[in-house]
Order: sequence, then structure tokens, then C-alpha cells
Amino acid sequence: MFEKYGHLISNRVVWSVDTDEKVVAFTFDDGPNETYTPQLLDILAHKEAKATFFLLGKHVEKYPEIVKRIHSEGHEIGNHSFKHSFLPLYTKSYVKRQIESTSALIEKTVGTMPIYFRPPMGLFTPSMLDAISESGMTAVVGEVYPRDPYNPGTDKIVERVMSRIEPGSIIILHDSGTFGKVDRSQTIEAVSIIIDRLRDQGYRFLTVRELIGLNGR
Ligand SMILES: [Zn+2]
Repeated sequence: MFEKYGHLISNRVVWSVDTDEKVVAFTFDDGPNETYTPQLLDILAHKEAKATFFLLGKHVEKYPEIVKRIHSEGHEIGNHSFKHSFLPLYTKSYVKRQIESTSALIEKTVGTMPIYFRPPMGLFTPSMLDAISESGMTAVVGEVYPRDPYNPGTDKIVERVMSRIEPGSIIILHDSGTFGKVDRSQTIEAVSIIIDRLRDQGYRFLTVRELIGLNGR
């Protein structure tokens, strides 16, 4: 529901990109995770696919070596806030601090500032959108979300993505969680299958920046 009507909520947020080319962007939220992110990077390298990782500041702090690996293997790093707070409840200055402290940490780790921000839970308010743009970032959500954190089964994740995909889609998946131990094995398995199926249909896998670049935005 939310993903379907998202574009009506705000045109200040990127939901997908208009294109006739068979290209999509995989995005992975909440990482890095010490178990699943390396597995995912191995699959992406093996299949020669690029992706975008929306990282949490608190996890960047904990796993800087994995962040460096994401960057050095040519994937894009985005900002997903410092600790995944429910940002609509907070003041604009608090939101800006969450964004800017995470961007600074990413820059310190890999030498490059992220330019895309994905709000936690995909939720935002006009004040949050102001905080995002005042921090020099573009808000990116996405329209293809198979609800993988609920572990509906690998087949379900694959099926939900395949039934909704179209040229220019941004796919939302999770290689970690906001706190505590998580099991992302279904997501990891699904990604491998989805890449093969989409590639059979002629799709290529771009970073969010490359996808948005097609439109000259
Ligand atoms: Zn998240």
C-alpha cells in the first residue's frame, strides 16, 4: 500500500526512475552485518552486479572493514541514519545531526561523502525532508519491497520482487537489522536467484547514482 501510493505522498523522494532501459537498482538497508554483508558481497562479485548499501552509523562504527570492502568493490554507500530512530517524532535539528554524524563517519571510513539518504522505515515528514535537503542529500525510498525482514521464505521474496519489477525499479532488501541478532539467510539466497532471473530477461544492475544518472537528475 505504502509503496504503491508513495509517489503521491511526495515528489521530493525518489521512488523509481523513468527509463525504457532494462536496469534496476538493488538496495540493502541497516548494515553492515558481520555475517550477511560479506556473503552478499561474495554473491554480487561472483555475479558481477552492483548495489547500493544504506548503512546505519552505529554499524559503520562497529564494522569499518566491511564498509571499506563495500566501497572498494564498487558499490555505492548511502546513509540510513545513525541508529534507526523513529525520526518523524524528532526535531529537524535532531534529524540533521543523525544524518550528518553518519555521513561524517562514512567519509572518515571510505573517504567519500554519501549523497543519498533513506529514512528509517521509509517514513518521512516535510520537516525531515527539509533536514535531508539541508544536509545536501537526496531522499531515496523505492517501490519494490518484498518485506524480507519478516522472513516470508526465499521463494516468496523472489516472487514478490519478480512480480513487481520493471525498468527503473529500486528494490529494497535488508542485509542486517536495527538491533540484536537477525537471520537474513532468506534474503541472501533470494538475491542470487533474482539476479539470475532478471539477467535472463536482459536486466542490468546499477547503483542508485547510476540509475538516477540515466535521467540526468
Ligand atoms: Zn532500516
